[in-house]
Amino acid sequence: MNAAVTSPMPNMARTRWVCQGRTAWVGTVTAADSGRRLLVAVDDGETADTAPPRLPASPTDPLSGAGDPNDSVRSRRRAEVVTRGMLGPDSVSTRPGQTGPVRDAYGTDRRSPLLPGLRCVHADLHNHTRLSDGQGDPRRLFGSLREAGLDVAAVTDHANLASQLGRPGGVPLASALHGISPADWQLLREIADAGDEHGRFVAIRGFEWSHPLLGHVNVWDSPGFTHPRWPGAGDMRRFWDWVATPEAGGALASFNHPGGRGTVLRFAGFTFREELGRRLIGLEMFNKSDDYLLAVDAKGVSPLVQCLAAGWRPGLLGVTDEHGSDWGHPDRKGRTGLYVDELSRAGVATALQARRCFASRVKGMRLAATLGGVPMGGELGRRRPDEAHQRRSLSLAVDLDLGPLARGMELSVQLLRPSSTVPSVEEVARVRSGAAPSTVEVPVHDEPWLVLRICDPVASPEPGSTGAYAHLGRSIAYASPWYLEPATRAAA
Ligand SMILES: [Zn+2]
Ligand SMILES: [Zn+2]
Repeated sequence: MNAAVTSPMPNMARTRWVCQGRTAWVGTVTAADSGRRLLVAVDDGETADTAPPRLPASPTDPLSGAGDPNDSVRSRRRAEVVTRGMLGPDSVSTRPGQTGPVRDAYGTDRRSPLLPGLRCVHADLHNHTRLSDGQGDPRRLFGSLREAGLDVAAVTDHANLASQLGRPGGVPLASALHGISPADWQLLREIADAGDEHGRFVAIRGFEWSHPLLGHVNVWDSPGFTHPRWPGAGDMRRFWDWVATPEAGGALASFNHPGGRGTVLRFAGFTFREELGRRLIGLEMFNKSDDYLLAVDAKGVSPLVQCLAAGWRPGLLGVTDEHGSDWGHPDRKGRTGLYVDELSRAGVATALQARRCFASRVKGMRLAATLGGVPMGGELGRRRPDEAHQRRSLSLAVDLDLGPLARGMELSVQLLRPSSTVPSVEEVARVRSGAAPSTVEVPVHDEPWLVLRICDPVASPEPGSTGAYAHLGRSIAYASPWYLEPATRAAA
């Protein structure tokens, strides 16, 4: 951001949005009375006295990050002030007698007509501190995430060789060796317990099992932790063996940045462990600002295709994998929307186990979808043998809201289907943010899975996108897959 440019509100930490020649500003200011941060958007049309100068093609589109001068973010004609504290009590529950606020910290309604009785909460389940290779003080982590508008967060520092070797004399090891010690693990327990507040904010202790070749796996809410013994063979098998032990409790796990850093061996080819099929609940699609759908291996295979073909049945996650000290605040990084009946660790675990979630990289986004009446992440079931010859089409219903700042923005709804390399993709609808749910009939064969992808159709596609992906805009969300059958070796 050019330092000479001032936003129309003093002391406003802001981002400039450009749309069809108009300029709008969005950012945060601190309320003088309460110290609470307010999310504020100001359209320059109503702030003529202090209107900021227009910059050419500033790459500040919070949705696409692409700086596309034709970006489709709709500027607002009036100032909007949106904050948790101004919208009612800070509690999220749908239990009788508890009526929490219906809007999130960004002004988006948490309720979807497609998932009655549930509320959309925003989670970031992957964060680091200086206890491993992050920069921030772990005691500030949950406060920062909560202030940034997250409802659910986890700390997942690396568990690596350092936990065996210790850090003698405080001398830092090479970053790949940084890892938590048993004392750090206990400290993280205390920090998470202090940060957790029933009905208001869920704080989870976890760790990241980080192998330099096999890949990284997050584990949440386990009593103990473990680390690779690399160099050496069999670490992936040893890890899964550990997940089955009491030291892991009922912990849930995810495949992290699949196809990116440290995943040359792709989790030993995503080798499936049937007895743990219900414990591996996530595959990161967005990590930092990266989209992993097209992070193909040497044979051109998408990690999504490879993971699901192996038999795993994950929900799809977005995470920041934050290593800085401003957890939750940066724009355009991944996050996860979860549909809970109660904002508690138990409510979050239930939602994750049901794969009732979506990956996004837009703050305050609500996405819900049903196919044939089955919510995303659910099981569709195969056709009966006597129906096998019939064509099958199912109703796809999509509910999408990017919040008050993007009302009416047109988005591309796409369906991904399995293939041997990258999923096939087709646009099945255009919907407007904040409108009533849209319904479209889509053909469904006996694919083992189907995934909904949401794109900003005007923004530039992810670098390296080829084929149909080169013309379908930039991804902003993935709903968890619909599966035709549960996690099973037979699906491989
Ligand atoms: Zn990692
Ligand atoms: Zn990480």
